[in-house]
Amino acid sequence: HRGSEMEAENQDKPHAIMVPCPLQGHIIPFVHLAIKLASIGFTITFINTQKLHQLITKSSPPNTTQSDIFTEARKSGLDIRYTTISDGFPLSFDRFINSDQFMEGLMLVFPAHVDDLVGKLVHQTPQITCLIADTFFTWPSMISNKYNLVNVSFWTEPALVFTLYYHLDLLKINGHYACHDNREDVIDYIPGVESIQPKDLPSYLQAPDTCVALRMIHKAIFEGVKEADLVICNTVQELEPRTISALQEKQPFYPLGPIFLLSGFTKTAVFTSLWSQSDCTQWLQAKPPGSVLYVSFGSLAFMSREDVVEIAHGLLLSKVSFIWVFRPGILGCDDSEILPVGFEDEIKDRGLIVPWCCQISVISHPTVGGFLTHCGWNSILETIWFNVPMLCYPLFTDQITNRKLVVDDWKIGINLCDRKPIRRDEIAEKIKCLMIGKSANDLRKNMEKIKGKVEDAVSSVGSSEKNFKQFIVDLKVKIS
Ligand code: UDP
Repeated sequence: HRGSEMEAENQDKPHAIMVPCPLQGHIIPFVHLAIKLASIGFTITFINTQKLHQLITKSSPPNTTQSDIFTEARKSGLDIRYTTISDGFPLSFDRFINSDQFMEGLMLVFPAHVDDLVGKLVHQTPQITCLIADTFFTWPSMISNKYNLVNVSFWTEPALVFTLYYHLDLLKINGHYACHDNREDVIDYIPGVESIQPKDLPSYLQAPDTCVALRMIHKAIFEGVKEADLVICNTVQELEPRTISALQEKQPFYPLGPIFLLSGFTKTAVFTSLWSQSDCTQWLQAKPPGSVLYVSFGSLAFMSREDVVEIAHGLLLSKVSFIWVFRPGILGCDDSEILPVGFEDEIKDRGLIVPWCCQISVISHPTVGGFLTHCGWNSILETIWFNVPMLCYPLFTDQITNRKLVVDDWKIGINLCDRKPIRRDEIAEKIKCLMIGKSANDLRKNMEKIKGKVEDAVSSVGSSEKNFKQFIVDLKVKIS
């Protein structure tokens, strides 16, 4: 009798399929959300691409026994199932260099693979009732309609960027769509956005409308997301209150961020890194508190050879200690011998260059006092949480718009250079402004205020917790 009771209980458990966009900055928040949902009784089937699975497996620390991302999480009793599918390209295909072709594939080839897999999974127990897919995908409404699933769209960037894509029609009417002609008039007609300059639009909105990413955004975010039942977002209500309220008038929209704090990550070992992480702890320990600049441009963006050379010289001139994540392939071509001759000899133990690291471990270290960043959204949320002011050098996509939030709105960062091309003497000057003196103190004070808002949001009575609970209530109503 108890057996059949348990079976019935299991039948009733909500079961969600989760599909992140196969990129580092997307898989991390998806994994945290998966753990959080499983910890409150959801069954999760997490779908990863074979390519990402291969990278993560290769990069996991030696001697780990994990066979997939969630092996350790399952040991704590969480019902997280894991499966991989092809993204339509051979494993050897370089998805970074050939990003346009890759995005085309995600729009045209990947949906059939997802369809095929979901078709096989629908007979599982408990019954699959919900799809949580990345907002960047163009196919979630097709799949959720076909299999009668609640369609939850997960946006991993700030609400500001979401709303700009969401209102592409307004940008078009006003001539700010695909506006690559250096317009200077202010955009003040997007609901919930007081004003934004054309130069601060995401790079894809400044590109010609033939751009593949823009086509994807048009189909996925301008059209597709409007068919979603619920939208969740890795942002914080108090950080973007007006933008979020305006969006909530259009669609159920739940800011749950910072999502990396949702899962109690430190308690459950999960490996999500696409590359092996160098250990910087010992090097950091030998430095005075607040003295180290952390330099990283994320997992995706390319940089020019000239920029790298100027940054290297700027670091030398600044005399500040630094850790520089120099991701192999960041130039999009051979990056050997890019650093100035004698650079590594000159920096001695003042600088540490690593191919990749555990960013959270580095920026949470008390010796780190500043972050030269590309303004990736995960990096911004992490650095707010660990109180580290930013020196901003956005390169493309949402990073351009994220900079506006950090520098112009919240005043917790400064621009690396006021105009391009960036120059070594200005870089050195800005590094000093970030790390020492009155300007550094001002940034730190502002950071404390912003951090305070985030702390409130994630407290047990805070907005992110409340929004999460409401999301679960509303999701369960849709499921039933
Ligand atoms: N990251 C990391 N090690 C590094 C650099 C980055 O673990 O050496 C992590 C970082 O903590 C963040 C993610 O990779 O969670 C990058 O996401 P973000 O949105 O900041 O930038 P993207 O890589 O998507 O441009």
